[in-house]
Amino acid sequence: MHILVTNDDGITHPGLHALAQSMKSLGEITVLAPDHNWSASGHVKTLHRPLRVQQTKLPNGTPAMMSDGAPSDCVALAILGLVENKIDLVVSGINPFGNIGDDVTYSGTVTAAMEAAISGIPSVAFSLDSPFDLQGDRDFSAAGTIAQRVAARTALAGLPRNTLLNVNIPYVPLNQIKGMRVTRLGLRVYRDELVRRDDPQGRPYYWIGGEAPTGVPEEGTDVGALNEGFVSITPLHLDMTAYNLMQEVSEWKWDSD
Ligand code: MN
Repeated sequence: MHILVTNDDGITHPGLHALAQSMKSLGEITVLAPDHNWSASGHVKTLHRPLRVQQTKLPNGTPAMMSDGAPSDCVALAILGLVENKIDLVVSGINPFGNIGDDVTYSGTVTAAMEAAISGIPSVAFSLDSPFDLQGDRDFSAAGTIAQRVAARTALAGLPRNTLLNVNIPYVPLNQIKGMRVTRLGLRVYRDELVRRDDPQGRPYYWIGGEAPTGVPEEGTDVGALNEGFVSITPLHLDMTAYNLMQEVSEWKWDSD
């Protein structure tokens, strides 16, 4: 088995190193990750500038490649032929923060996996639900072990085209993880606010700021599973059609002025 390992936090991030390490026992790995942090970049396809790829090494000496493209560009590059050997599985992460609810539309971690799903390659996005305000180094060891299990299962079972798994892991030691739950997307609560300031020339500029998001820990959702100490596994589909709205919208008077 040949596994492509990528992330959205960049080639130097310890979450990527933990994921690469945990995939080694499953087969051959190729690491191709962005050369800088693309968190919350969404699903990117870089069309208006060239993409560069450089050889590098992870801190433990593992050969790797880095690109100035987005996470989804890295996956596209690899699938379209930059990587010669056929790719059987794409894993992305380990993101240091949870990607739950509407986060999946912003997340570079998840959209890297989506890029693989479009090409029909099974893919999994991994995120560690660690506190936003945690000081010091994060411990990715439990998440790495979980990622190994999930990747092995996914490779064995396969996934239909246009589907992927979004996996969130609670930030506790391995022996305190209560188990795995298959979930639906829950409700992320954003607390964004617009911060307006003036630059030295008196022109306004803006930050989208505010406190860290929270979530509604409803049973059956990703937020709920994490809240109870379970790994959350959410199967995602790229078909975003709102089927239950089709009838209503079709009844709007489309043919009159
Ligand atoms: Mn990230």
